Amino acid sequence: MLDIVIRNARIVDGSGMPAFHGDVGIENGKLRRVGGQLSEPARQQIDAGGRVVAPGFIDPHTHFDAQLLWDGQARPALEHGVTTVVHGNCSLSLAPLRAEHRPKLVRMFQQIEEMPDAAFDGAFEWSWESFGDYMNALRGRVALNVAPLAGHSPLRLWVMGEDAQKRAATPDEIGAMQDLLRECLDAGAIGLSTSFVDVDENLFPVPSRFAHFEELDALAAVLGEYGRMLQVVPEFYNTDITLARVDQLAELSLQYGVPTTFSPLFDSAIFPDNVSRVLDRVGEQFARGARVWPQVQTRPIDISFNLDVPSLYFIALPLWYMVLRMPREQKLAQLAEPGTRRGLIDAAEPGGDVSRFRGLRVRDSRDPSLIGKTLGEIAEDRGVSPAEAMLDLSVEQDLAIWFLSANMGHEDPARVGPILANDLVHVGASDAGAHIQSFATYGDTGYLFSRFVRQGHHLSLEHAVRKITADTAQIWGIPDRGLLRAGMAADVVIFDPEAIDRGEELPARDMPEGGMRYVRDASGVDTVIVNGEVAWSDKGGYTDARPGVVANA
Ligand SMILES: [Zn+2]
Repeated sequence: MLDIVIRNARIVDGSGMPAFHGDVGIENGKLRRVGGQLSEPARQQIDAGGRVVAPGFIDPHTHFDAQLLWDGQARPALEHGVTTVVHGNCSLSLAPLRAEHRPKLVRMFQQIEEMPDAAFDGAFEWSWESFGDYMNALRGRVALNVAPLAGHSPLRLWVMGEDAQKRAATPDEIGAMQDLLRECLDAGAIGLSTSFVDVDENLFPVPSRFAHFEELDALAAVLGEYGRMLQVVPEFYNTDITLARVDQLAELSLQYGVPTTFSPLFDSAIFPDNVSRVLDRVGEQFARGARVWPQVQTRPIDISFNLDVPSLYFIALPLWYMVLRMPREQKLAQLAEPGTRRGLIDAAEPGGDVSRFRGLRVRDSRDPSLIGKTLGEIAEDRGVSPAEAMLDLSVEQDLAIWFLSANMGHEDPARVGPILANDLVHVGASDAGAHIQSFATYGDTGYLFSRFVRQGHHLSLEHAVRKITADTAQIWGIPDRGLLRAGMAADVVIFDPEAIDRGEELPARDMPEGGMRYVRDASGVDTVIVNGEVAWSDKGGYTDARPGVVANA
């Protein structure tokens, strides 16, 4: 007897080949039959009604490290059809981590990924130091499959302590890091993540940035023993340095036989030839046999913020950044203090250049008449500059006014569509679970179908499915997922190809302690099955099932 049979399916199997009609049979967490008509009895029947049945989507760039400990369903990623996530990206993971380094790592995590205290403090029990014990803490708790990376920064902290942010490692320390990375990989880590750009809570470079080339080379050699991924955040704001990183990753890939991936890479009017130059270089390196996968997101870059929490929006304005990091009362006092106020305005509008904040829109406000207006319009009404208007409104409204910087890049479908369709481009970089008070990354997959399949016709339905299933599994070396084939894991999403989309970005108070984050609902997704169990359905919502496999790779 089968566990589940899905009848009347339009099967898009992840390989990219044309859809075909038939049934899908599931037994013991595996796909038993794909296609044809199944007459065998089944405990549960699902009528797909001609909608698409596809492999579950794989999200290769998330920061669910902490959230999975208090929300094993990684809401709302799962209801968008995501059945496997990679976390531990960008040099940051919660293991391996000695107890004494927890506060330091949490502050770093909060700074880089913009996660509030509520995501860490008291939200879960720290029961691990080793990578294996962190994996054990996730086992039995997760509704989707998780394949975490080990972060370079915690590896360094473990071996070097405070010196991790002071200097290069000695040969002995590099050897100790290699052993520690082996331990992580033995416990099921899917690879190593590192960063060349991030800063900690004091705006000091993160530990991974103090590594000399010998150290990264030695760690890549260990990845080579396992054939595992190296994930990197390059200096994405400078095309020439990014090209140098592509070359460096290519050498490591060739020398040690490992895949590498880097992000972000996005289209921007500031550097119009950035993506094409990087993709040309990536193409040259692939032609040499290297694997250097640029990860590209589907969604435009929109950032929301208020002055209550320090946002990455201000990272290029040190004085603003410093004031926004102050405790609330002190901050309110400083924002109203004439000297500080003058300094902030001069920093934002050097020489009377008011362009920086003029286009920002009020997203939410105690005064509803302001919602939707730009700071430029409000400033004109008030006879002040946009920066003054931002400060005045924030103080008047006790910081309860939100601003939206829309379309900061990657917003032109005519330019982004061909990038996503490129065979050398790895579609991903959702950053799900991070930057939760700046934007909602959930539904990047729905957006791929709505914007680039239905509207723009940049990818066929089958191509788009392949990009976020079989291609991802192949790039990361996840052997039994990403395709609908008999014997493979039964990760399945049923969706309406005419309706799948991301919903509006909405504030939600579903964090521990009622903390706020932005989320998006899914539309057009009917059922999400993980390892043969229904984990979410449009009709029934989230189930109690926790079928996720931890580090299956
Ligand atoms: Zn990241």
